[in-house]
Amino acid sequence: MFLTITTTGTPDRPATDLGYLLHKHPDKAQAFSTSYGTAHVLYPEADAERCTAALLLEVDAVALVRRGKGKGRGGAPDAALAQYVNDRPYAASSLLAVALSSVFSSAMKGACQARPELPSQARPLRVEVPALPARGGPDLVRRLFEPLGWTVTVEPIALDTEFPEWGDSRYVRLVLESEALTLGAALRHLYVLLPVLDDAKHYWVAPDEVDKLLRVGEGWLPEHPEQKLIVGRYLSRRWSLTREAMERLELVRLAEADDSEVEAIDNAVEAETETEEKPTPLAVQRRDAIVAALQTSGAARVLDLGCGQGQLVQALLKDVRFTEIVGVDVSMRALTIASRRLKLDRMGERQASRVKLFQGSLAYTDNRLKGYDAAVLSEVIEHLDLPRLPALEYAVFGAARPRTVLVTTPNVEYNVRWESLPAGHVRHGDHRFEWTREEFRTWAGAVAERHGYGVEFVPVGPDDPEVGPPTQMAVFKAENANEKNDKSVKNDKSDKSEKEAKAA
Ligand code: SAH
Repeated sequence: MFLTITTTGTPDRPATDLGYLLHKHPDKAQAFSTSYGTAHVLYPEADAERCTAALLLEVDAVALVRRGKGKGRGGAPDAALAQYVNDRPYAASSLLAVALSSVFSSAMKGACQARPELPSQARPLRVEVPALPARGGPDLVRRLFEPLGWTVTVEPIALDTEFPEWGDSRYVRLVLESEALTLGAALRHLYVLLPVLDDAKHYWVAPDEVDKLLRVGEGWLPEHPEQKLIVGRYLSRRWSLTREAMERLELVRLAEADDSEVEAIDNAVEAETETEEKPTPLAVQRRDAIVAALQTSGAARVLDLGCGQGQLVQALLKDVRFTEIVGVDVSMRALTIASRRLKLDRMGERQASRVKLFQGSLAYTDNRLKGYDAAVLSEVIEHLDLPRLPALEYAVFGAARPRTVLVTTPNVEYNVRWESLPAGHVRHGDHRFEWTREEFRTWAGAVAERHGYGVEFVPVGPDDPEVGPPTQMAVFKAENANEKNDKSVKNDKSDKSEKEAKAA
């Protein structure tokens, strides 16, 4: 297995800096023993203009089999032979990735004690892998490396040059070139993508592999268009690990998106509260509608799911009938702002005991959400990609199951009315969808049906005769809480009498 990394230099940035970056002196050939054989590092060329480091991994096929982690130990004789006679020693596979990470571990982390300024500098790089197994073919190789800023040359290798009619093998010669990447980034790309292209059984998939993948993928994997394929193959299609990794990547993406989201909300609220004579801002009308619906429901212990900066939590604290108020959000930054807004650190003990904030994703079922009277999802569902919505639905209506659930979301029909309004009112760019009244009713109706809730719809803001209100709110009531609570009776009175019956 073989791989070379080449850089070119200028008088003030000599190519031989590569030796510092890799922590391997260009004048020496060095050998390192790894779990699967010997890794050699040598420099076929090393001067100020051009410097190439080569990594040659000599795999000990017998040791590989003895370690018992090789390909299946099937009973058939050819299966046994296949353990010894296969492409593993030659093709740049997951083993080469392991060797890269152990021989060049500091370079991969982007550390260089002798020249600390070097690792963060991009430089011209050329990586060549003469024999790379590429399941998915040249096209996939390009789809994996091009989005990361590489210029990709990929040539299929004939199965046998004597017999061209046999066609291509599954191996390619790969050359990657870039001027814009650091060496550390290049090594991190290779560390993940070599095994992805190999797609054979890896030798090291362990539960902490997810942590390693996210660490090594930092800065490029969360945004990669082939993220799902990369994660699935890297984790050897272990679906539980793959799911965990995808969810954590989603959290990273959301947490990043939410920073601007949080700012946008702040700006919008500021813009709304600045002008005195304007009608009550929509955000305030929405909060008032939610508080009123919660009061009507008789709830005492309330969840604010996707609480953002805590404005609703703050409003609920003012009413003593809410004895416990819990704000949950995926964005740490939003929670930090919420805690500052509420002055949690300066609150009296009694007041503080009524409020809790914690981080969580609504795409997970979460035991901490169980046992509450009511849950609010105010302007949250439209921030989830549609395919994630069933996960939220299950987490809230299937697992947490509060008696009352309030869901608000923009009514997209009303958007035509926003045109004349100031910029602060423009609906936010992070919205993954905005629904018509019909779409929202269809979704909410199906959710209610699936989970044993009844649902009613309440307009929030001016209810335009043509396009409806700017915000639509669904009020869900669990039907199983009390068998007598007939589906068709969902008004305030029935709730009160239900409560009285319970109290008695
Ligand atoms: N409820 C607040 C904030 C709405 S903005 C209000 O009405 O003003 C949407 C909020 O949902 C953001 O704070 C965002 O961080 C949060 N959010 C988005 N996806 C989430 C998820 N999967 N789990 C938890 N919170 C999420």
